Amino acid sequence: MSKPEIQLPEHIHPLADQERFTFACHPGVSCFTECCRDLELALSPYDVLRLSRELGIASREFLDRYAIIERETEDVFPRVYLGMLDDGRTSCPFISGQGCRVYRGRPAPCRTYPLGRGAWQDKTGRPQAFYVVQREAHCRGFDQAVEQGVEQWIAGQDLAEYYQANDLLMPLLHHAKLQQGCRPSALQQDLFLATLYQLDDFRSNNPDLRGLTDLQLLRYAVDRLIEQFFDERGTNS
Ligand code: SF4
Ligand code: SF4
Repeated sequence: MSKPEIQLPEHIHPLADQERFTFACHPGVSCFTECCRDLELALSPYDVLRLSRELGIASREFLDRYAIIERETEDVFPRVYLGMLDDGRTSCPFISGQGCRVYRGRPAPCRTYPLGRGAWQDKTGRPQAFYVVQREAHCRGFDQAVEQGVEQWIAGQDLAEYYQANDLLMPLLHHAKLQQGCRPSALQQDLFLATLYQLDDFRSNNPDLRGLTDLQLLRYAVDRLIEQFFDERGTNS
């Protein structure tokens, strides 16, 4: 797959190699936590694993209490969103007067903003990425005179593992058979959710996997789904 051609909206600025941007977010900005309201927050399997761990609950319980699972006919796989509060401002359930209650386990979209990352697989299946800066009108973080670079932002927000986790999903989500029109059955969609969005259960139900790191576990789970869905060896293998 080559780099996708995407028409970007005006508030999204593609970053050239080594280009820097000016941004900082801290409790002193006038808009502090405004971005934690009126938002649609899609969660990846790794987001759910980290959030559940931060809250000290199982992923299964996290999904029951905090997630909305959408199964739209036009989507290949179900989508998982964080359920927002019905408080007139559609606020995140983890917001508090002091900021984010799950800061150490906050999901990738909260870590990455204002940076955005587009990823694709090259011809050899290796993940490639480009970066953009998203400038939301309400965000005063751009008024702060703090220079940032992409690598610096990724390190500061502890994002590398989140990006790697998303890349590990690509061989499944962009599988050639899906591009050719093959669609998972309802049972396979259930398996997708039960495996990838409940990685802690997947680990504890398979004693051989207990020593794997989170990313190794995710890689293994993706490969097993590729085998089961498409009857072939996963490209992560
Ligand atoms: S500066 Fe931007 S990212 Fe930070 S709290 Fe304000 S709106 Fe959110
Ligand atoms: S998880 Fe934390 S940072 Fe993300 S929207 Fe909720 S309160 Fe804000």
